[in-house]
Amino acid sequence: MPPLSNVQQRDIDSVFHPYTPLHKLSETGTLVIDHGKGVFIYDTQGNEYIEGMSGLWCAGLGFGDEELIDAATEQLRALPYYHLFAARGTEPAIELAEKLKELAPVPISKVFYTSSGSEANDTQVKLAWYYNNALGRPEKKKIISRQKAYHGVTIMAASLTGLGPNHKGFDLPVDGVLHAECPHFYRNGLEGETEEEFTARMANSLRALIEREGPETIAAMIAEPVMGAGGVIVPPKGYFPAIKPILDEHDIMLIDDEVINGFCRTGNWWGAETHDMVPTTMSVAKQLTSAYAPLGAVMVPDDIYQAFVDYTSRLGTFGHGFTYGGHPLGCALGVKAIEIYQKRDILSHVRALAPLFERRLTGLTEHPLVGEARFSGLVGGLELVADKATKRAFDPSHGVGAKVSSLIEKRGAILRPLGDTIAMCPPMIIKEDELNALFDRLEGALDEAE
Ligand code: PLP
Repeated sequence: MPPLSNVQQRDIDSVFHPYTPLHKLSETGTLVIDHGKGVFIYDTQGNEYIEGMSGLWCAGLGFGDEELIDAATEQLRALPYYHLFAARGTEPAIELAEKLKELAPVPISKVFYTSSGSEANDTQVKLAWYYNNALGRPEKKKIISRQKAYHGVTIMAASLTGLGPNHKGFDLPVDGVLHAECPHFYRNGLEGETEEEFTARMANSLRALIEREGPETIAAMIAEPVMGAGGVIVPPKGYFPAIKPILDEHDIMLIDDEVINGFCRTGNWWGAETHDMVPTTMSVAKQLTSAYAPLGAVMVPDDIYQAFVDYTSRLGTFGHGFTYGGHPLGCALGVKAIEIYQKRDILSHVRALAPLFERRLTGLTEHPLVGEARFSGLVGGLELVADKATKRAFDPSHGVGAKVSSLIEKRGAILRPLGDTIAMCPPMIIKEDELNALFDRLEGALDEAE
């Protein structure tokens, strides 16, 4: 290991890094990023990388976009901050809510702003509780999530998340969160089972969970159309159409977590459209502003909103909100990002590149280390296995995902290891030659790791 540079040393001396093996930092150092342009980022040593993850699945328009920068500057000059508490409003918050309503895949009446995806999902749970209290059903409070789901890191959002590291050591999950089976056909399908049979089994298992717990105790189910941080798990054919009637039958809301899927990523405006999901409410963040400022939102239909109005008339005020929820900078950037998605026709660009993305990912399944390639639009994952024939996973101590991703980094590209899966979520503005270069670097790293 080369000695740490001055900036790396200062970094580890003072910054508490999230999602990091803290005990190894003095050995591994950190990668300190200095600037970015288009799909490229540059570290403090001047090394260039293709950012194949859009940061954390969020910088969909890449780096250094002049139109977004101008929109931010203009908004900061006009009004750097104001809030929406106590019936205050700002023009960017209004405009963005109007745009989100226009784009939503189901009728949406109101948009509640947060600063992040975790806050959006936390808010979803509070709203589901408030709603059922409003309707006089205080026992209907449990939330169903899924194993391998990722919904964030606040106490409730981390409880909804179905991944060990988010629970271990933090005394989570809290009571009242149920984790249904993960609908990952490659991993959880039985010998000889077809994808359709697997879907039916997942639906039956959800029904059994609801009946076991008592439907009168369950408020909502939350789901990402494509599960992101759990390993880019694409739902099996017919999954959402199979589970939705079960939820409807028991008056259980379906919360659609579009934090990664939303804004053209899967080849439609919403992952819900790509994967036949009919949501009750929606959570958005990340590509909402293309990550140029933090912002999240919860989108609710009118019948639910009217129940809040009615309940609030009895309680006095709606007692929930974040200081920075609906920050004018974030909202102005949200408005501009959506305008850019539309006028540069990012959706058609994603659709045009998706076949190449799919072809190159699928091509990698020939590699001895690759068990499965998964994709939806321009988000994908490669699951690495110790034995292709039996799908045997690597021993966790092997750290295969982390090893491969560090080899990719050495070749000038950033991808994210999610356990044994290498995730890809390039900026949606990526060009064909840049996408090919990203795959070439990934392929080179896999060959070296073999
Ligand atoms: N929901 C999903 C699907 C996510 O992928 C994430 C973050 O990766 C979150 C929620 C949490 O968002 P944030 O990190 O902005 O709190």
